[in-house]
Amino acid sequence: MRDRYGREIDYLRISVTDKCNLRCKYCMPGDIESIPMGKILSFEEIAYIAGRAAELGISRLRITGGEPLVRKDCCTLIKMLKSLPGIEQVMLTTNGVVLEKHIDELLNAGVDGINISIDTLDRDRFRSVTGADGLSDVLNGLSAALSKGIKVRINAVSVDWDRYHKDMCSDPYEDAWSLIDLAREKPVDVRFIEMMPIGYGKGFPAIPHDILIPAIKERFGDMIPEESRRGNGPAKYYRIPGYKGSIGFISAVHGKFCDSCNRIRLTSKGYLKSCLSYDTGVDLMDIIRSDMTDDEKRDAVLAGIEKAILCKPAAHSFTKEENISEKHAMSAIGG
Ligand code: SAM
Ligand code: SF4
Repeated sequence: MRDRYGREIDYLRISVTDKCNLRCKYCMPGDIESIPMGKILSFEEIAYIAGRAAELGISRLRITGGEPLVRKDCCTLIKMLKSLPGIEQVMLTTNGVVLEKHIDELLNAGVDGINISIDTLDRDRFRSVTGADGLSDVLNGLSAALSKGIKVRINAVSVDWDRYHKDMCSDPYEDAWSLIDLAREKPVDVRFIEMMPIGYGKGFPAIPHDILIPAIKERFGDMIPEESRRGNGPAKYYRIPGYKGSIGFISAVHGKFCDSCNRIRLTSKGYLKSCLSYDTGVDLMDIIRSDMTDDEKRDAVLAGIEKAILCKPAAHSFTKEENISEKHAMSAIGG
């Protein structure tokens, strides 16, 4: 359905857990107080909500977290969602640490694509950002996905090592260069995501895209912009001649794309968020766990989803941080 600004909302991101096996410093730097399982949507509840969302025009879903693959039987959920009428695609965003061992299940569940988050290909810097020595596991997951013919994209936020740990990197763009190299060698799109001032990302030393993009364009002068919009997202893509994958930029702060926003977000606690920047939304768990009759529940969930879509603001407020009302960590929202 369309929101009040005429935007077609057809994409739902679903966070299935707030738990994670990494501790990325800009997302979930320390242990979080775990939400008891009973307060997390069950797979049946998620599928119920997704089914109603599909009735309102949502056709594409993304499973995220925390780390979605740490939730037991996550692939069962993907299979359930794939079978819903109206759902055309179910994709996954993962840190990739345990991807390799789940790859066959994911394939069998019918996953339509996997985004793997990798900020650096340097083992020490990976450990410094994520708190774990897991880079080789992530790369094995990437290879496993590619070997099965699954469409893979890399998502990377660019740490500003000059401000974060100066002695760990001599060239501020070294992570970008090596990630772009991946797109030369493998059929993966590499997308740089601008750090957003949400949760621990606020004030985190990252390279803003008004600096990163010109630096990349200067080095790869022959980058060719791709005009057509791809996938579900706001990424602006470029091709480099001879490269197997494209280079994308998701510049939430310096390339505001709210005019074409197409998404809503469901947290693991059943809260349907209208926009990343604000706490506005609708508590769907409240509705589906109430003692309403089935018909009443169905109507209330549909009305709740409609309300969340109609509450979507015109734009985020990342450049006016005092207006950001979202106080949760990104791990609780799903990115
Ligand atoms: N654990 C999975 C992963 O890392 O891919 C899924 C959840 S994670 C919250 C989803 C994405 O959000 C990751 O690519 C992560 O880098 C990104 N992210 C986390 N905090 C962010 C922030 N403040 N600004 C921009 N991206 C952020
Ligand atoms: Fe975990 Fe993903 Fe957040 Fe890193 S970005 S802490 S992997 S949820």
